[in-house]
Amino acid sequence: MTTPVRVCRHCQEAITDPETNGVIVAHELGNSGPGWDIWAHRWHAEQVQLINDDLLRIMLRIWAAQSST
Ligand SMILES: [Zn+2]
Repeated sequence: MTTPVRVCRHCQEAITDPETNGVIVAHELGNSGPGWDIWAHRWHAEQVQLINDDLLRIMLRIWAAQSST
């Protein structure tokens, strides 16, 4: 067993120090097993677009509806 290398989703570079430089931006489920975490550099996390545009549009509509009540 080797420690899995954490790679930034945005720039594809290895995250050498996850304790200080890395954040988990998502978790993907595997076909078998517990799946894996999606990592990104702390300064790249906001640029990782995991949310599908259509889903985002739906969510924005829901949030707008909630805030208007
Ligand atoms: Zn990065």
